[in-house]
Amino acid sequence: MDNMQNILRRIPKIDEVLQDQRLVLFYGTTPRSVIVESVRETIDHLRQEILSGNTEGLDNAEALMDEIVDSILQKKRKTLRRVINATGVVLHTNLGRAQLSKEAAQAVADIADNYSTLEYDLKRGMRGSRQDIVENIVKKVTGAEAAMVVNNNAAATMIVLAALARGKEVVVSRGELVEIGGSFRIPEVMSESGAILKDVGTTNKTKLSDYEKAYDPELTGAFMKVHTSNYRIIGFTEDVALPDMVALGHKKGIPVIYDMGNGLMADLHKYGVNEPTVLDAMKAEPDVILFSGDKLLGGPQGGIIIGKKKYIDLMKKHPLARAFRVDKMTLAALEATFFQYLDLEKAKKEIPTLAMICMEPEALKEKAERLSAMIAKAAPAYRLGLEEVTDQVGGGSAPANYLKGYAVSLELSGMTAEQMERKLRKAEVPVIARIGHEKILIDVRCIKEEEFSLVTEAFVQIEGGEK
Ligand SMILES: *Cc1c(COP(=O)(O)O)cnc(C)c1O
Repeated sequence: MDNMQNILRRIPKIDEVLQDQRLVLFYGTTPRSVIVESVRETIDHLRQEILSGNTEGLDNAEALMDEIVDSILQKKRKTLRRVINATGVVLHTNLGRAQLSKEAAQAVADIADNYSTLEYDLKRGMRGSRQDIVENIVKKVTGAEAAMVVNNNAAATMIVLAALARGKEVVVSRGELVEIGGSFRIPEVMSESGAILKDVGTTNKTKLSDYEKAYDPELTGAFMKVHTSNYRIIGFTEDVALPDMVALGHKKGIPVIYDMGNGLMADLHKYGVNEPTVLDAMKAEPDVILFSGDKLLGGPQGGIIIGKKKYIDLMKKHPLARAFRVDKMTLAALEATFFQYLDLEKAKKEIPTLAMICMEPEALKEKAERLSAMIAKAAPAYRLGLEEVTDQVGGGSAPANYLKGYAVSLELSGMTAEQMERKLRKAEVPVIARIGHEKILIDVRCIKEEEFSLVTEAFVQIEGGEK
């Protein structure tokens, strides 16, 4: 026992360790409490090891410092981190949905740490409105009479219903009572908004006459169409086209709301995406259209509401407008993104979501070959292959639309695909990959060419057996 006391006495003291040259380097950039915590934890760990009979670490000061430095670096890591999306799902909800364009990211950076015209009218030198910031450009791109922006499409749905149909019935087809991502269900959002859901038709068939029969001049506040953006009902089906609903709504003198979700601006049929565009929807002249900012629009999270001025004005004045309002960084990104849509062909190349969807299989194949060659050169132990894979738009958009893509497949002797997948998630910039036929698949659609070196580095580390 006495012997043990002597051994424990040889453990370095916290204050001494804190003087170490390698830790002093952190002082300018790291809160002292973080450094102290890492030192304490590492030394505690060493003590536990010694007590359980392992004295190996005792005289290895270098290893102890390595462990402390590692611990500090771990603690300094943000919880929200950049990752590389090697899944081939373009709008990956878990990985942040749409990637901003360079222009949009730059606009955010310019506004984030400076003062701005968020609510200031430079011409008149007085208070302005944050809603004006994107309204003009959204009107220009979509042709709508008025526009406003809230936090997301869920908030947009809520405010539209609260402002236009509180205490009134809103007629929706049973086939369109969608759930999007767990907490967004049309019936629940509707009841929270104070509107009363009047569902009509059946799951697979709803006819115009169903809406007509449901209409009650005393009770009905609006007709609403919800784009079934994350599922398809196929087979013996029928739904009412937007123009027919609009004609009926207007005959009855009530607003027609279209929750379209995806916010697609460019026609992507040619690329295998059979989704309606905002401009298609505008042609039907519904009173209000809602869509997300970070789905096929390819911008920041947001809920964009466009339509007749008299209805949008009601929403702008509604108390929820303040609760749902977006911040300056969202507005900066959204304005920049919509500005890019003034040139649709350029937008398809420069807005990452669109550019990734529009990549031709041949180009993807070449991209995969380039990555494969790079890995082969840097980490020769892998067995590499090229696989044709099926990519997805994702994000609850375009459910039945699959895109032909390419992936580099990798195998390493003595390691399962699951083990490799786990190690890829621990890389300096984590790589999120899929497994297919017991191989790791690095789908290249959503990986930037500049990221190839990071992916390669991750495989070099794994090959070298680190961590
Ligand atoms: C995605 C979607 C929503 C929810 O949009 P968020 O921006 O995620 O809140 C609502 N309605 C439809 C039809 C959608 O596709």
